[in-house]
Amino acid sequence: AMAPSNKAHVAVLAFPFSSHPSALFFLARKLSEWAPDVGFSFFCTLKTNGSLSSWPSLPNLRIYDVADGLPEGHVSKGRVDDEIEFFLGATPGNYREAVKRVDEIEKVSCVVSDAFLWFAREMAEEMGVAWVAFWIAGACALSVHLNTDLIRRKIGTRSEEVSARMDESLAFIPGCSQFRVRDLPEGIVFGPLDFSLFKSLHRMSQELPRATAILVNTIEEIDYDPVLDHLRTVLNKCLPVGPLTLLAPTQPDSDSDPHSCLPWLEAGAHDPASVAYVGFGTVIMPPPSELAALAEALEESGVHFLWSLKDNMRESLPAGFLDRTRGRGLVVPWTPQSRVLGHVAVGVFINHCGWNSVLESIAFGVPMIYRPFFADHRINARILSQVLGIAVEVKGGVLTKDGVMDGLDLLLKRKEGKMMRERIGALKLIAKNAVGVWYLVCKVWREDGFLDTDLSQV
Ligand code: UDP
Repeated sequence: AMAPSNKAHVAVLAFPFSSHPSALFFLARKLSEWAPDVGFSFFCTLKTNGSLSSWPSLPNLRIYDVADGLPEGHVSKGRVDDEIEFFLGATPGNYREAVKRVDEIEKVSCVVSDAFLWFAREMAEEMGVAWVAFWIAGACALSVHLNTDLIRRKIGTRSEEVSARMDESLAFIPGCSQFRVRDLPEGIVFGPLDFSLFKSLHRMSQELPRATAILVNTIEEIDYDPVLDHLRTVLNKCLPVGPLTLLAPTQPDSDSDPHSCLPWLEAGAHDPASVAYVGFGTVIMPPPSELAALAEALEESGVHFLWSLKDNMRESLPAGFLDRTRGRGLVVPWTPQSRVLGHVAVGVFINHCGWNSVLESIAFGVPMIYRPFFADHRINARILSQVLGIAVEVKGGVLTKDGVMDGLDLLLKRKEGKMMRERIGALKLIAKNAVGVWYLVCKVWREDGFLDTDLSQV
């Protein structure tokens, strides 16, 4: 073993599902580049670390595996919830063990973790160092999670009780009057509250107020002020550091264009701001009937469209749809989404209100039609339509032929759509400038002495 050194050493703990690890890995890389004299150790599962290995290595950033908790010989049924369950079953022991090993060689001087990994608080405390948590979504979603206990006291958790109160406002939380009970993420008052992830998020809500600082993937001037103000009363330090997606790809293949979407946008005879881009992120599978209704709407409306649709969902498309729309429509299993949204031809984004998609749409000034599904989607959606005025919900909340056609007409043809495009165009400029807030992170790190090193120098 190496001799213990006095060098500052940051342990970064990542949550290994969906876009979480890429976000934490980006943070680790960014900090490693800024502070070449500080050591960084990144902890995640073997499988996820493998998917991050395409990045060029950095001399002061090392990657360590933690156990994924899967039983020997486990055969995946493709259900991510099962994998989460096994993984959480292995926490916090898997991280503790891995961190202990590196700490013995090079003393850890700060713990940075995904906010989901609430036990990092205790680990940091035992080592006598600061805990900085990273919340990869928006401020409003963070606020409702932090207020889980209050919401449970006010609304209850018995399903009859909750169902009767779905339309009540969350006005009892500062800044949350535009949200209704039904907009909450699953796991707060409805959904399977005993699912291990939801139990973890509840624990997280109790631990986060004790973190030295929380980094939030949002933009100060765009996210909702009253909510940020409230967060600042509850948390020790709350630093908006978004939009991360402008700085780093959210997926390993975010920028690749294997299906030639950009040449298609370039070559087709599309008017500026006329193409509908459709994409529901990397996780959800909209019901087949809704996909069919959406296809019918795209066909009948005559709009040009680009649709990111996984191959296993293609069978939901009406017979002959692809032939009949050939030339003005392109359906592919993967798009370089940010580059697509940045193309002048794209005029509207039909999406699920996944936080990265929302930030990308803002960053490229494309108004949205949304159909939220779960987690923070409904909270994000309300901010977009009620506060920012840059998106509309598909009528009735589910994808129907008429609802989608109305939305397309509103956004692409009518004055309201033009105004939304103007409003989101103004936010786009703010988003571009916000990228500079990363310096703020350095500044606070220095001033609060999380590390014995002056990050402002790098
Ligand atoms: N994405 C992409 N091409 C696709 C589908 C998705 O680049 O065809 C990217 C998209 O740009 C975004 C991320 O995948 O950064 C999806 O994240 P989001 O938070 O919107 O949704 P989630 O996948 O977490 O539901």
